[in-house]
Amino acid sequence: MKRYSVLAIAREALRGHLGWDRAWASPAPRAHYDVVIVGAGGHGLATAYYLGKNHGIRNVAIVEKGWLGGGNTGRNTTIIRSNYLQDPSAAIYEKSRSLYETLSQELNYNVMFSPRGVMMLAQTQHEVRGYQRTAHANALQGVATAYIGPQKVKELCPIIHIDGPRYPVLGALWQPRGGTARHDAVAWGYARACSDMGMDIIQQCEVTAVRQSQGRVTGISTTKGDIACDKLGIVVAGHSGELARMAGFRLPVESLALQALVSEPIKPCMDVVVMANTVHGYMSQSDKGEMVIGGGTDGFNNFTQRGSFHHIEETVRALIETFPMLSRLKMLRQWGGIVDMTGDRSPIISPTPLGNCFINCGWGTGGFKAIPGSGWAMADLMARGTPGPLAAAFGLDRFRAGRFIDESVAAGVAH
Ligand SMILES: Cc1cc2nc3c(=O)[nH]c(=O)nc-3n(C[C@H](O)[C@H](O)[C@H](O)COP(=O)(O)OP(=O)(O)OC[C@H]3O[C@@H](n4cnc5c(N)ncnc54)[C@H](O)[C@@H]3O)c2cc1C
Repeated sequence: MKRYSVLAIAREALRGHLGWDRAWASPAPRAHYDVVIVGAGGHGLATAYYLGKNHGIRNVAIVEKGWLGGGNTGRNTTIIRSNYLQDPSAAIYEKSRSLYETLSQELNYNVMFSPRGVMMLAQTQHEVRGYQRTAHANALQGVATAYIGPQKVKELCPIIHIDGPRYPVLGALWQPRGGTARHDAVAWGYARACSDMGMDIIQQCEVTAVRQSQGRVTGISTTKGDIACDKLGIVVAGHSGELARMAGFRLPVESLALQALVSEPIKPCMDVVVMANTVHGYMSQSDKGEMVIGGGTDGFNNFTQRGSFHHIEETVRALIETFPMLSRLKMLRQWGGIVDMTGDRSPIISPTPLGNCFINCGWGTGGFKAIPGSGWAMADLMARGTPGPLAAAFGLDRFRAGRFIDESVAAGVAH
């Protein structure tokens, strides 16, 4: 595939941009692959990419019922951070964050990683103590964060009102190398690299059954016919319960709609990401100037994939307390994605009861940031058959054994 470069752009500008290759091919499925991944979101595509790059496994198909990146990967608010409390979480999220630092160069595709800094506001004494504890844990884990006071918060983000009547800002957990990236570009960059390695990305192809014999997967049935495979990876976020049902096992996961909205574009006014978990809202400014605002999950399980009116009202009302300037902004659009929530708010990267079937899910409200690290760990698991150090703690067996990785404080509402 042709490299994207300044010279290539100049050359194509002179010949009417007629010489570009398609970014990825759209082949018909073949009868058999060594590996089939279900789900062409960021995690499925990254799994395929690292299978090829790290393990030399390239006879791979990624099967997607809609269009690639059309699930949560293309619907999220793009916050990237690794300031988690527990050691296994800090390890995988920091691996992921560090891969983001050079992802554009690695994929030869601009994913617009912007390490502008992420702050999580402490607006109650409970949060002050919690975030100070996380800052200490992060220091031991080698994750660069700091607990900062309210004056520093104001300096970093002048539009914050720190003396609010209900919830004044008491401080914040600050990660200077956290930030954002362009969500579609992450999916597109991995897709292009997978296609370049000879892998097949098959869109508009829904998996309808998991075929098996003697405790092993033999292939899948899809709306484009049957496909045989030696190994199957299920990476479908909010639809994980459905795929597990097809494969004949159950998951400790609930599916819920999580919502977000954006305002009209305005001049640059905020160059950090702010999360306010007590009032429950978070915000950053996109390159276009829109304020990108994240809200909460619905209070009931569903697969609706759309926003609801009361969430707009709740989220905007909550944020106006901390950002009064928001009250003068028009909101442009809202949407929802189906997130897969585990009880301990940590992911599952695991073998399954079927010998050659593996699952990656449970990233819930916060898996965009984890795409490179999760793909790396899942590829390792699928290539070797047993989890490597990054995935070892995230097995399904932890729910049976009671070895929870409790991130409900760090990730319960935040992203
Ligand atoms: C509103 C919102 C805001 C968020 N904000 C953040 C944030 O700021 N930071 C952060 O880190 N995370 C955030 N997240 C979470 C993050 O988006 C997800 O954890 C992550 O994108 C999951 O990626 P994925 O590849 O696992 O899933 P997806 O991108 O959902 O991909 C799964 C794919 O599987 C496909 N599929 C499902 N069933 C089938 C089938 N039967 N056959 C074939 N294909 C199938 C789907 O069509 C889909 O494309 C947010 C999520 C939402 C919804």
